Amino acid sequence: MRQTKVLTVDPHRPDPGTVEKAARILRSGGLVAFPTETVYGLGAHALDPNAVRAVFAVKGRPADNPLIVHVSDAAKGFALAKNLPAVAFALAEAFWPGPLTLVVPSSGAVPKETTAGLDTVALRVPAHPVALALLAAAGVPVAAPSANRSGRPSPTRAEHVLADLDGRIDAVVDGGETGVGVESTVIDLTVSPPLILRPGGVSREQIEEVIGPVAERAEGPSCERPRSPGLKYRHYAPRARAVVVSGAPDRVAQAVLKLAQGFQGRAAFLLSDETIATLPQGFSGLFPLGSKSAPEEAARRLYHGLREMDRPEVDVIFIEGYDEAGIGRALMDRMRRAAAAAEVDADALLAGELTPAELAKSGEARPW
Ligand code: AMP
Ligand code: MG
Repeated sequence: MRQTKVLTVDPHRPDPGTVEKAARILRSGGLVAFPTETVYGLGAHALDPNAVRAVFAVKGRPADNPLIVHVSDAAKGFALAKNLPAVAFALAEAFWPGPLTLVVPSSGAVPKETTAGLDTVALRVPAHPVALALLAAAGVPVAAPSANRSGRPSPTRAEHVLADLDGRIDAVVDGGETGVGVESTVIDLTVSPPLILRPGGVSREQIEEVIGPVAERAEGPSCERPRSPGLKYRHYAPRARAVVVSGAPDRVAQAVLKLAQGFQGRAAFLLSDETIATLPQGFSGLFPLGSKSAPEEAARRLYHGLREMDRPEVDVIFIEGYDEAGIGRALMDRMRRAAAAAEVDADALLAGELTPAELAKSGEARPW
């Protein structure tokens, strides 16, 4: 156990003295969680094998899941790479700082602990003022996976970081709630056409506007390929069982009523405002994800909602599915992973093809 310092800063104009305190810890091999525009990252000196090993240990992260290296500008990142394709420069120009991670050939400067032994390195310049100030002050590349215990929902607030890692890390820089709420898009530039390994804060459509057609990994947690090792693990999951309910809002609302009867106080619901509006007054266990027409709002709120509704009395969390366009793609990816791919269609549920009791039994065994 160590004392985890909480260093509170203004998210827009972080105090340089406080940032320097955090930077000093990073330079000397310590672990510091900090806000990025996506989620909170758990930072460690990316060139220090011991610091990186400590990240894997405190997260309980499998050693074959490489870390993204964060830098304060593109030049510092590209110095860690070699044989850079032209698309790397085009994407960096268009989206950095921002929620896009580029997988490129490694120069060898980043140790194997960070890249999990791969000959590639994943690079990102985050867009959060606190992250940028910290990276600039640290003056070293910072490996930073999400600052949660492995498998848990990613943290979008400092309190989420503390819930998982208090006493295990040196400090958390508290810069309030993060903006995007889901992780960066990861794109592999060592293949042609480039391959989106993980949907995220920058959409496929936005990327294709800059570099033309790209490929996307076959969907779903059940058809993982080892190319991005982290993707094969269960992720973003609450302790309660989660199930995605898809369909038109009015059908989802009817399905929710049926499920609430079936589970009688043991279910929680993450729903769109439109669906909530059709439910009776006093309906309990609700967490609003925002309007169905604002998937970016749902992305921002999802992980907080999963943590909020993950109460001891709750056996199952039902999550309303969203349209898979733009950021909706990353949103649905995270919802499905939280649910370990358990997804039901509202129409099927209402037609009685699946009863709540069967639903509760379906899906994989819980790892907790
Ligand atoms: P996290 O930081 O926990 O959000 O996860 C980082 C993601 O980036 C994981 O899915 C990793 O597998 C992936 N990643 C990191 N480095 C590489 C790399 N060199 N090649 C492919 N995927 C990577
Ligand atoms: Mg993560």
